[in-house]
Amino acid sequence: MARYTGPRCRLCRREGMKLFLKGERCHTDKCSFERRSYPPGQHGPMQLRVKLSDYGIRLREKQKVKRIYGISEKQMRKYYDMAINMPGQAGHNLLQLLERRLDNVVYRLGFAQSRAQARQMVNHGFFLVNGKPVDIPSFLVKPGDVIELREKYRNNPIIQESLEVRQQRGIPAWLELEPENFRGRVRTLPSREDITMPIQESYIIEFYSR
Ligand code: SF4
Repeated sequence: MARYTGPRCRLCRREGMKLFLKGERCHTDKCSFERRSYPPGQHGPMQLRVKLSDYGIRLREKQKVKRIYGISEKQMRKYYDMAINMPGQAGHNLLQLLERRLDNVVYRLGFAQSRAQARQMVNHGFFLVNGKPVDIPSFLVKPGDVIELREKYRNNPIIQESLEVRQQRGIPAWLELEPENFRGRVRTLPSREDITMPIQESYIIEFYSR
C-alpha cells in the first residue's frame, strides 16, 4: 500500500490517542483530538463502547506504530522480519529499527517539526550522513554517524525555528546536537526507555507471529 496522504488527525482519532503527526499544531488547542477524541466517521462515537477482541487490540497497536512512523505495511513487515532475526527481545529490536530510520532521526534532532516533514526533507536531499548525501528516509543510522544539514539550507527560517523548539523540549539521550553547526551525532543505539510514546511492542510481535 502506498503512503497515507489523507487527513492525519483522523489517524489520531482512530487510534484513540495523540500521535503527534502535525508538528507544532499538535501542541496547541487547535489539535483535533483535544476537541473530538472519538473515532472518525458517522458511527465514531458509538465505537467507543465497542470492546475490542484480542486480535483487534494487537491490530490497533500495529496500526498505531505504523502511523506514528509513517511507514507502509510492507515496510513494517520487513522490520518485523529483521527484528525476530536479531539477538535480544524482538519487540525492542523492532522499535529500535524504527527509531534508527534517518527521517525519524532528523525529526528527533529537531530539523523538522514532524516525521512527515523530515521524510520530505530527506527525500529532497537536505542532509549529509558522514559527509555523503543520503536521500533515503529508511536509511538506518548507527552509533557514530554524523547527520548534517547541507549548507544551502541553513538559512531556512522554518528549520531554525524548529531547532529552537526542539532544544527547549529536549533531545533523546542517544543523540546529540550541535545546533550552531546544524549537525547531530548518534551516540548509541536507542534503548527502550528512549521511546516515550505508549507502545506495547509485544502485541505487534504477537500480531505478526500468529
Ligand atoms: Fe493528532 Fe492533534 Fe496532531 Fe492532529 S493536531 S495530528 S489530532 S496530535
